[in-house]
Amino acid sequence: MNIELKPYMDSIPAVGDAARLKEVFWMNDKMVPQNEQRITQVKPEQIRDAKERLERFAPYLEEVFPELKETGGIIESELREISGMKDFLNTSYSAEIEGRLMLKMDSHLPISGSVKARGGIYEVLKHAEDLALEAGLLKETDDYAVLAEPKCRDFFGRYTVQVGSTGNLGMSIGIMSAKLGFHVIVHMSADAKPWKKDLLRSRGVEVIEYADDYCAAVEQGRKNSDADPMSYFVDDENSQNLFLGYSVAGERLKNQLEQQKILVDEEHPLFIYLPCGIGGAPGGVTYGVKQIYGDHVHCFFTEPTHACCMLLGMATGLQDQVSVKDFGIDGRTDADGLAVGRPSAFVGKVVEPMLSGIATIEDKKLYDLMRGLLSSEDIFIEPSSCASFAALIRPEELKSYIETRGLADKMKNATHIAWATGGSMVPEETRKAYLKMGL
Ligand SMILES: *Cc1c(COP(=O)(O)O)cnc(C)c1O
Repeated sequence: MNIELKPYMDSIPAVGDAARLKEVFWMNDKMVPQNEQRITQVKPEQIRDAKERLERFAPYLEEVFPELKETGGIIESELREISGMKDFLNTSYSAEIEGRLMLKMDSHLPISGSVKARGGIYEVLKHAEDLALEAGLLKETDDYAVLAEPKCRDFFGRYTVQVGSTGNLGMSIGIMSAKLGFHVIVHMSADAKPWKKDLLRSRGVEVIEYADDYCAAVEQGRKNSDADPMSYFVDDENSQNLFLGYSVAGERLKNQLEQQKILVDEEHPLFIYLPCGIGGAPGGVTYGVKQIYGDHVHCFFTEPTHACCMLLGMATGLQDQVSVKDFGIDGRTDADGLAVGRPSAFVGKVVEPMLSGIATIEDKKLYDLMRGLLSSEDIFIEPSSCASFAALIRPEELKSYIETRGLADKMKNATHIAWATGGSMVPEETRKAYLKMGL
């Protein structure tokens, strides 16, 4: 890294403050109205393609994962109003939230209990489909339940899937790949929790551990995979497929809001708050919901103060050319799903014209918010997920955003969605330990 960073720290307050580990709420001055957004990296048709692929796989998924019986093989989570949490935030954090507060419970997504069950599983399915179509084992018009047959599992067993992960991506890729019959290797960074490694090994996944951070695990995984022509590398730093898997959430959310008779339009703004690691999950969801609601939806990313890579990349415009370490930030956070030091190579660019802003939060508060949600709603989510409340507890900055957009008199009709990104698979003992932290 040989770009001089001091001028950025001096001229952009959010960057200077973030480098000093202060909590910041950066507003994106490059956001433009939807009709002026020129996005070339991905196209809306690709979301439809991803959605249709997931529908083709539904009969297979229903067959191999009993927990998907109820939804006919569709992996989706509940959207639940959390008015008790709204009261908690307004009382304990003087949050002044108007309108309705809801939780999008990807923390409870079937199969792998995190938002990665969208992008991660989608990418493995896409790869399996590509291989099976090419080998003539499958046609798009077939009932994909045939993929559960031994001849298909044997076929996939000749191939390897590899991924570098801080934990949750490895869980989704690992569980799904192993189920299809692939040999799967997950390269885990030092931040990954032991229970995730144990669970994966119990499902027949090969787990390789590194003493180093996430980027190092990804690097090694990529190298291993490139050296083996039968191996496929799920590349969290660049993957379009992951992004598209996440983006399908947009239409799913629209259906859920309609079912609950919740309006989103000029008079009823929608605010969505998404915890961000490398950017794929929050970026994909943002792209998906923006295709549907355009300027009526306002998306914010949230990051830990110690791993605010997307904030630094976007606010400086340097994107993946900079890592938190270049700013003297250590990258250490208990929010393991967000413990990423360098943002995605393409997400920052895609969301640049559509993202409203990024808020950062200290680890200590994540635990307090975790206890608040548990006591007010009886819902447990993991520390990373709790970052979804980071922007909501910054009333001054949020109010100024709202006023600038002329939304002040509409906020009583607004819906806020905190995107809970993980938690349901955290073992009981780990939960108990979390609940005692940061006190
Ligand atoms: C991965 C993850 C995120 C963020 O996703 P990115 O694609 O890394 O930005 C958020 N929360 C949890 C729990 C995660 O596992």
